[in-house]
Amino acid sequence: MVSTFSPLLQSRHISHPIPGPRSRQLQEQRNGEVSSAFGAALPVFIDRAEGGILQDVDGNRIIDFASGIAVTSVGATNAFVQAKVAAQLDRFTHTCFMVTEYEGFTEVCRWLNAHTPGTFDKRTALFSTGAEAVENAIKIARSATGRPNVLVFDEGYHGRSLLTMAMTAKENPYKLGFGPFPEQIFRAPNAAPLRWPGGPENAASEALAAVEAILAENGPESFAAMVIEPIQGEGGFLVPAEGFLAGLRKIADAHGIVFVIDEIQAGMGRTGTLFASEHDGVEADLIVTAKALGGGLPLSAVTGRTRLMNAVRPGGLGGTYAGNPLACAAALGVFEAFEDGSLLANAATIETVVRAHLEPLLDSVAVVAEVRGRGAMLAIEFADPITLEPRADIAKAVAAACHAAGVLVLVCGTYGNVIRLLPPLVIGIELLEDGLRVLTAAIEQQAAEASRALQDAAAA
Ligand SMILES: *Cc1c(COP(=O)(O)O)cnc(C)c1O
Repeated sequence: MVSTFSPLLQSRHISHPIPGPRSRQLQEQRNGEVSSAFGAALPVFIDRAEGGILQDVDGNRIIDFASGIAVTSVGATNAFVQAKVAAQLDRFTHTCFMVTEYEGFTEVCRWLNAHTPGTFDKRTALFSTGAEAVENAIKIARSATGRPNVLVFDEGYHGRSLLTMAMTAKENPYKLGFGPFPEQIFRAPNAAPLRWPGGPENAASEALAAVEAILAENGPESFAAMVIEPIQGEGGFLVPAEGFLAGLRKIADAHGIVFVIDEIQAGMGRTGTLFASEHDGVEADLIVTAKALGGGLPLSAVTGRTRLMNAVRPGGLGGTYAGNPLACAAALGVFEAFEDGSLLANAATIETVVRAHLEPLLDSVAVVAEVRGRGAMLAIEFADPITLEPRADIAKAVAAACHAAGVLVLVCGTYGNVIRLLPPLVIGIELLEDGLRVLTAAIEQQAAEASRALQDAAAA
């Protein structure tokens, strides 16, 4: 498909203070029409997006360190995705796969069966959203095992539907006021090294012991599934202590529990491998994907052992839009984009560049507690250097300063004290470095202000 647009300049540019006058006008209209329950990390309205740039309706060019939320990994105007979707748009937009079928659905399933970790025989089911896929993974695990219970983890995020809200750890804003929730959800500690009470070196073994204790207490034979993110996303880009995922895999095997890995945020090339669980050498029984899978179109999937995937009675899974033909076409474009390996290499390069900019702050800025993550899924956490008390105020001020300077960053973490970086894998290195200089300067400035405030308080 030939774009009618000229390429979007890959440089940061502020033509109006952000948000500009047109964005403010549109925001007012939005407030008069749209439920106020929808927040916006940066209230600007986007006109075009490409590579590492979001261009807003005021002509500002903003560096994109969000990719939606880890969705547009191959770029918001990827040529492979555009070509596939345009071709499909010409043929038909929808039939409903449960009514009459189309090949694209099978092709997406074939790719996922072949490329997800584990060489065993697999089947895939497609859906539209991440939460829907997680729910279906639970339906499959319960069907296959005949057991009710689900084990999830502190700091976990699995979606906003009723079941996935129950599985999500954080109360506000995800769950507050939306209960009662489904029962039979149990939560175990997550082996996040930084704040592990027994010290980082004991995080994996002690967290695994806690899992065993929860299972023993509630009867391991009543657990259908344990569900974990290979790197927790909303919870703060927490990389599990080495050996934790492998240990969970062993526990799941010992008790006949279906091991579900939620790769919705960390998967599809984000961390430099197609799936983040590859870093831990762990194979899930069921792997859940979404976000970057559809290249911007809504598509999600559950992929796993045939024995489990076929345990549900015919007709037991589905959905009107499940595996929509346009979304499947987009995913086939995403797979093409990953074929030559360059995007995975880009993720590794992004990690090197980001670490080179952010890691020196560990020594020079007292409130920087950790720089962590993998590939193009990296974060910086702010906390008191001695007590580790979370400093959400600093994360918030840094994000605001970045936004004002035309760099879109997102905050995450249970305490809201983590800034996460999720640039598109196609971002240019110069642009990446420009954004990182803005971020670094904002961190240095906020930290200096915080320490001045401390000194003033001590002097008073
Ligand atoms: C975003 C996300 C979900 C939910 O996906 P939706 O498409 O928003 O329903 C589930 N799990 C993880 C790890 C996510 O990051």
